[in-house]
Amino acid sequence: MTEGIYHWGVDNYGDGNTPVFGRQIAAFQGHHQRPWTIVQREFCNNLQQVFKPASVPAAFFLAISPFMSPAFNAFTSTFLFLVCMSQQFHAWSHTKRSELPGIVLALQEAGILVSRKMHGAHHKAPFEGNYCIVSGMWNPVLDETRFFRKLEDFFYATTKVEPRCWYPPDAEWAEEGSA
Ligand SMILES: [Zn+2]
Ligand SMILES: [Zn+2]
Repeated sequence: MTEGIYHWGVDNYGDGNTPVFGRQIAAFQGHHQRPWTIVQREFCNNLQQVFKPASVPAAFFLAISPFMSPAFNAFTSTFLFLVCMSQQFHAWSHTKRSELPGIVLALQEAGILVSRKMHGAHHKAPFEGNYCIVSGMWNPVLDETRFFRKLEDFFYATTKVEPRCWYPPDAEWAEEGSA
């Protein structure tokens, strides 16, 4: 769910020049234009991009782990691992059924991992829902309760910044070669 909120943020606000998040924002927009490149990268090649920066907090959590409870340590390590794996879960949701291992397909069908169909909806206009790319469980909840619309309203009320999804999708959203 956290990654869904993060994804909503980088899809809707800022651009490649935004401080700190600029690279991520550009990466997500690039993904909308060329979604197929995510499955062309090798498993490790794909994962090292996220595991490398994650080694910083990982080292931190490891350093403090002797002073923390086992529950805290279990939570932080699992959480960090899932954040890193989200890149792979996302890639699987772009992979052809016939190329997926049976276990992955079963998890997708059970809604534990985001399914190809659900994530496919995120790549279609109006580009305003199905932001979660790890688990399929939160998308219906967040979309039906209009969670992101409320967050956008709140953001607009406080900052006067409008999210990108309030406008008809421009060329930046379209898949290359499709529009
Ligand atoms: Zn997106
Ligand atoms: Zn995608």
